[in-house]
Amino acid sequence: MGVLALQGAFESHIRILNSLGIEAIAIRDPESLDSVSGLVIPGGESTAISMLLESNQLRKPLEERLSDGMPVFGTCAGMIMLSTEILDGREDQTPLAAIDITVKRNAFGRQIDSFESQLDIKGFTYPFPSIFIRAPIVESVGESVNVLAKLDDQIVLCGNETTLVASFHPELSNDLRIHELFVSMTI
Ligand code: GLN
Repeated sequence: MGVLALQGAFESHIRILNSLGIEAIAIRDPESLDSVSGLVIPGGESTAISMLLESNQLRKPLEERLSDGMPVFGTCAGMIMLSTEILDGREDQTPLAAIDITVKRNAFGRQIDSFESQLDIKGFTYPFPSIFIRAPIVESVGESVNVLAKLDDQIVLCGNETTLVASFHPELSNDLRIHELFVSMTI
């Protein structure tokens, strides 16, 4: 498994995948992207990740792998990167369009930049401790998208056959279930 390591919270993803017995490597160049069969795009700053994809010559090879159906998991800024449309994005910020969703950046309001919530997730038997940090909201989804969790009526976890996206940071909770779910999508 690869974890995009241009910017943001990539080390926590590597640690969690390792504790699930998955070999995970940091991806910073096209050669290492070639060597993995699935990818995690971490939280961080999506405007920076978007620019760094270009400067590291990763955008085109990544777009190709995604259109070939490589499984991908995006958290927070990673969700923004995998969307088809970004509201309140920057003009030079281009999403990868792996999942048919429109997201709004920094949508939970300035006064509550960060918070934790016990989230009910489809298929999980008990709530997931979810950490939101300047999180995006999913404003709308296409028919191909399976909604897995909502917070106050807003979609915060969803997926399609090969893509899983979360508004929050499952890599910062001591709970492996969402990573397990993604790993199950790669086999
Ligand atoms: N607000 C950030 C962005 O727009 C995402 C925040 C995060 O990943 N914690 O990219």
